[in-house]
Amino acid sequence: MPAARLPIPLWPFGPHQALTLQVHELTVHGRNSEALALADRLEHVVDLLGDTRSVGMIRQGRLYALISLGRLHEALEEGERLLQMHRTSGARTGEAKTLADTAEVLIKLGLLDEGLHRLANATRLLESIPRSNVRYISAMSSVSEAARAAELYELADEASAFAVESFARGTDQRAAAELQRAELLLEWGLRLEHVGLTEEANVRFARSVDLVRYWVQHHFHDAPLATVLYALGLVKIGAVEQALTLADSLVVPLRDNGHEHEARLAHLAYGIALRCTGRLREARREFLAADELAPLSPQRLIFQYELALLAAAEQPGDSTGALLNAVREHARHLWRLRLERRSMLQQARRRVDLEAARASADRDAAQDALTGLGNRRQFDRQLDQIAAGPGSAVLLLVDIDRFKGINDHFSHIVGDRVLREIAAVLRAHCRPEDVAVRLGGDEFALFLRTDLPTAARVGERIRDVVTARDWNQVAFGLRVTLSIGVAALHDGMDGRQLYDMADRNLYVAKRGGRDRVAA
Ligand code: GH3
Ligand code: MG
Repeated sequence: MPAARLPIPLWPFGPHQALTLQVHELTVHGRNSEALALADRLEHVVDLLGDTRSVGMIRQGRLYALISLGRLHEALEEGERLLQMHRTSGARTGEAKTLADTAEVLIKLGLLDEGLHRLANATRLLESIPRSNVRYISAMSSVSEAARAAELYELADEASAFAVESFARGTDQRAAAELQRAELLLEWGLRLEHVGLTEEANVRFARSVDLVRYWVQHHFHDAPLATVLYALGLVKIGAVEQALTLADSLVVPLRDNGHEHEARLAHLAYGIALRCTGRLREARREFLAADELAPLSPQRLIFQYELALLAAAEQPGDSTGALLNAVREHARHLWRLRLERRSMLQQARRRVDLEAARASADRDAAQDALTGLGNRRQFDRQLDQIAAGPGSAVLLLVDIDRFKGINDHFSHIVGDRVLREIAAVLRAHCRPEDVAVRLGGDEFALFLRTDLPTAARVGERIRDVVTARDWNQVAFGLRVTLSIGVAALHDGMDGRQLYDMADRNLYVAKRGGRDRVAA
């Protein structure tokens, strides 16, 4: 059972954005093929408009449609593209959400290790992000889906409860989150029933009905998913007649309107209600129809179980009894695997925490404590990398003029402030691919991914900014200037040679009278 996906928040609106939302609207209603067709038509246009946010949304919609259609390999590819997009733009909530979405796909593909590792990564990332916004909640609902795919119902429930409680009553988002939760509870209950935990199952069924009753009675008379979940919940809590009437009225319109997912659940509800009233042949027809709508569903067990129950009721005997036992044994086996999965997830989480701790220790070890720039260690690493890698690179060595005098005339504290201010100026002149480090003392280095003339201009600009700055704000009468030596990497040059050349130019700038750039 693919779930009701949480709708994404609105943003300033244009026609292409309305269409983008429609992609999601279609997936929410189970009209996944239409959603895919629209996404394909739309993506190119939106891309041309330069609206990367909508491109992300379209891909998200395509990902969900592909998951719902069981086209998991394509879904994984789409997820990877989306993940790359979030990482490039530094959108951490988006990254967490897509990690969870791709975790769901991997788990459904049977790639448990990788799937649980990603799920652990997603939960870790979410713990480091403020919990307030709608994107966060949407990411939590993805965590819930991934956990549910692994039958980790406790985690799924926790995440979906969080989503529910984050929205005010009476909003569409609350409705979507509650429906997602209701569906999870139903599935959890059915699975508990398979392994004989009837009482626990009944608690879930009752909670699911409570959640959905509110929406059916107050708000969403025309929401097919709510109604169909209500019908299924009713039959499971024993309100068979009511479920029978409701489900009977749902099946045909849902099929006619292409609401495949809801139609499948309606067949299931109707089938169970028919079985409970002894209309076994009709019940079988419903289960087969439901199964036919999604023959590759991972939740196929639910239908196999119902069919086995029916067979045993229709023709009581050794062979049907044995069939039912076999299905039950299979269900118990899968339930035991669940426990293994739970400890696999815990292990994955420990591994992810360790990786993060190591990465953070690496960062600390390569950072200069006073300025927050990279330190000598990062300088050496960067020098090696740049000399070994492709592309153009220029090294600027930046040294404060007569810094010793600043320390002596003012104080070490003023000296430290100057160092931090210079670091800020250097950082402000870095693009994402550039790197600034403090080599030690009053000497800094800047690696720029550009050519020599451009780098020399950047050097001049930095020198200008520092000379022109009103340093009286830091200490009355303070003046600060820089000398800068510039060198570009040439073919066949190693890091050491690049450094020596920049250092020679720095010496030239100092000898030439300071407050200047030598290239
Ligand atoms: P030049 O124009 O030739 O570069 O002269 P300079 O005085 O800047 O050259 P020198 O290398 O002799 O002086 C660097 C000074 O930086 C010496 C040292 O006391 C000071 N220094 C080194 N590290 C720190 C630090 O972390 N904080 C402060 N305030 N001063 C530091
Ligand atoms: Mg100096």
